[in-house]
Amino acid sequence: MPLVSMRQLLDEAAKGGYGVGAFNVNNMEQIQAIMEAARETKSPVIIQASRGARSYSQDKFLYHLMLAAAELYPEIPLVMHLDHGNSVETCKSAIELGFTSVMMDGSLMPDGKTPSTFDYNVQATREVVEMAHVKGITVEGEIGVLGGIEDGHGAGGSGLEHVTDPDQAVEFVAKTGVDALAIAIGTSHGAYKFSRKPDGAVLKMDRLIEIHKRLPKVHLVMHGSSSVPKELQDVINQYGGKLKPTWGVPVEEIQLGIRNGVRKINVDTDNRLAITGAIRKVFAESPEKFDPRDYLKPAREAMKQVVATRMKQFGQAGHAADYQPVSLTAMAKMYAQKAVGA
Ligand SMILES: [Zn+2]
Repeated sequence: MPLVSMRQLLDEAAKGGYGVGAFNVNNMEQIQAIMEAARETKSPVIIQASRGARSYSQDKFLYHLMLAAAELYPEIPLVMHLDHGNSVETCKSAIELGFTSVMMDGSLMPDGKTPSTFDYNVQATREVVEMAHVKGITVEGEIGVLGGIEDGHGAGGSGLEHVTDPDQAVEFVAKTGVDALAIAIGTSHGAYKFSRKPDGAVLKMDRLIEIHKRLPKVHLVMHGSSSVPKELQDVINQYGGKLKPTWGVPVEEIQLGIRNGVRKINVDTDNRLAITGAIRKVFAESPEKFDPRDYLKPAREAMKQVVATRMKQFGQAGHAADYQPVSLTAMAKMYAQKAVGA
């Protein structure tokens, strides 16, 4: 199957009432882990790369790995998405490379750190929407500012400093025409999201539900939504790691989100933890080994297990064969005729 637009995947997810995990990648093993999990669970899937991933792998390596995934797993609808584009230029280069979906994160200035103004966000996001939709490519925007920093991107903080304002969300969608909207409800990037199991004081699910009521047709996106399970932390610490105790977003809160308009859920940390734990285990138990395959294979398998579990929990499992891909050209025509829109 060719790479497909994210808009189609999310529209289908809305019809089916489920969410779709968006998993970050930097290398071949991570892509393979996701594709194997997608095949095993028959799931449509979003694979995303940040700016950091693009520079780590060099764009072209990543792109051709994605093409290989599409070729080797023809039964899986697969989106290649840019995570946190920091500027119109970054989004443009992703579109030119062949990404089928981009995030313009205009909640921050192009330095990727400084919270921006509403007007700047609208203007930059609108520009990306105009550039992307003529090619049938999907755009995710962000309103409100997430906490934490990952891959050098983020404003830091707890995530409660700039929780999304529902009125601004409504205005932002109307002015930009984005396909999907990331909102800030207290989640953060990275492993250290919460210092205890989150409750309503730090994870604002009520705010999410309010935004969904105001924007019932908009696909909402939850960022920083790894669950950071204790089992994965324990494996790392058991084999010499030094993670401090931390809490992520409980799966049941994500499922509550999915019942209230969340269609895309970003997961990165859980997979990083699974990979690192598996590699540490091999190093600790078999210090004589030095073939990278001896630890990369179990690492890939550990990530596959996490991804497959999330696919079932988010509800995307079993939905890979529900629909035929709409070409990007056809998507572009639909945008031109205003046949898609919030
Ligand atoms: Zn994010």
